[in-house]
Amino acid sequence: MRGLMMDTPLLVSSLLRHGAAIYGDSEVVSRTVEGAIHRYGYAEAHRRSQQLANALTRLGIKLGDRVGTIAWNTYRHFEIYFGVSGMGAVCHTMNPRLHPTQILYMLDHADDRYVFVDKTFLPLIEQVAGQAKTLEGVIVLTDRASMPESTIENLICYEDLVCAESESYDWPEFDEWTASSLCYTSGTTGNPKGVLYSNRATVLHSLSVAMPNVLNLSDNECILPIVPMFHANAWGIPYAAVMTGTKLVMPGARLDGEGVYEMLNDERVTFTAGVPTVWIMLLAYMREQGKKLDHLQRIVIGGSAASRSMIQAFEEEFEVEVRHGWGMTEMSPVGAINTLAPPMRDLPAEEKLDIQSKQGRPPYGVEMMITDDKGNPLPHDGEAYGELKVKGPFICSGYLGLENSEAHEDGWFDTNDVASIDPQGYMQIVDRKKDIIKSGGEWISSIDLEDTAMGHPDVLQAAVIGIAHPKWDERPLLLIVPAEGKRPDKDDILGYLEDKVAKWWLPDDVVVVDSFPIGGTGKVLKNELREQFKDYTLPGV
Ligand code: AMP
Repeated sequence: MRGLMMDTPLLVSSLLRHGAAIYGDSEVVSRTVEGAIHRYGYAEAHRRSQQLANALTRLGIKLGDRVGTIAWNTYRHFEIYFGVSGMGAVCHTMNPRLHPTQILYMLDHADDRYVFVDKTFLPLIEQVAGQAKTLEGVIVLTDRASMPESTIENLICYEDLVCAESESYDWPEFDEWTASSLCYTSGTTGNPKGVLYSNRATVLHSLSVAMPNVLNLSDNECILPIVPMFHANAWGIPYAAVMTGTKLVMPGARLDGEGVYEMLNDERVTFTAGVPTVWIMLLAYMREQGKKLDHLQRIVIGGSAASRSMIQAFEEEFEVEVRHGWGMTEMSPVGAINTLAPPMRDLPAEEKLDIQSKQGRPPYGVEMMITDDKGNPLPHDGEAYGELKVKGPFICSGYLGLENSEAHEDGWFDTNDVASIDPQGYMQIVDRKKDIIKSGGEWISSIDLEDTAMGHPDVLQAAVIGIAHPKWDERPLLLIVPAEGKRPDKDDILGYLEDKVAKWWLPDDVVVVDSFPIGGTGKVLKNELREQFKDYTLPGV
């Protein structure tokens, strides 16, 4: 028997329509690329998104067409998210930290017809625009007075384009399976792969991540996504924020410790989200300047593992609740988030930290299992670990142009992460499959070793990579970026690790470096480190 409910498609435009109608005065506050602070309410954001949809219609953009962005987190990028997807076109966000050849690859692969760019990224698009096969125009996210000189002919000014249009636009109704946005995975090897989100998946993901146990969004909250809008839809925050009337603070181009701190405090932000590398800068700034966080209540640390020392610093030194999170571009992207279940809140601090170091429990809409390398399910006992597989309505079923990818088997998506799951449902990432160190037929978790090393006061950042070994296959090499003014000593570090990890896990050597190569989404590039140290000879070999 079929239910008798209305067949209303789940469309991205409905999130904005709802936010504008019910929470029209809830603010979007942005640091503009020029530096000034801009603020308006969701009602005005809605009107301008309608103007943008009219402008795109005039440019000939139709249902299913792809439109690119290379832009910071600002209100204009927010308008593009909704103006483009709302009219049934596909908003293709590109990561400006990628190489120009990769940008060109993505423009061509996606068949982008127009691209919106912040002034910062004009030199990047100038290098490739002339070669992009389907590109008809470049739109600069600024006003007439700030329009830059460029080698690109007929550069379009965003404010001219938008302000010339009527605010009256009826968001069209179409099939909820219509693609809404497109984001290419950072692809450390080979070409980036396109993850094509649908309107339906985006709405379901928004509903799921807004929940108390995930982002806890409502008009009582104020959220600042440090995570860029070009990294997996800023973890879905712009959509979920407008849906719930949450005040949204956009940091623009200033992601340094001071810039982030100012926005967090001045705008009374209660919740923020980003990768550990950003939080390292914020912590350093606050410690140097003796600052405290007056309003921030919660922080999501995800994208790479949050170390125990970082969790401790935020919770104990700055009194901010840490929610460790895990996800993937392919998952819209939230896959797990760590909130402590009520009985866990009274545990001794160390035991609580043990749990908080895990990546957490899946939100509604994500199912997880772990398997051995033959695909047999492993128990959720917190001990067994294996390949992590996921399924659900906002997880990709294939990549653009590679619909039958080998990442999908029996309806499950293989994350390429190795994890354990405990009886309470808390998942812990052991490692990425390709980063795990295989020593004498056993596995060593690089994440675990890094986490332990980062507990040493002389260590700012740690990365562990496997180095070829004639007897053991691979052995761990610990690379360290020192804390400000410290000179870590190898024996001291190894002595510190000795009683904290299994004896055979102890790194064979420790090397201090000035910095790590950081990828486009703020993660340490292990493949580059492996390349740098490929001829490294371990002691005694
Ligand atoms: P991306 O699609 O670029 O966001 O990368 C997704 C990958 O980042 C995952 O498959 C994990 O390997 C890694 N990742 C994300 N969050 C975490 C986390 N909290 N701890 C460890 N690895 C993470």
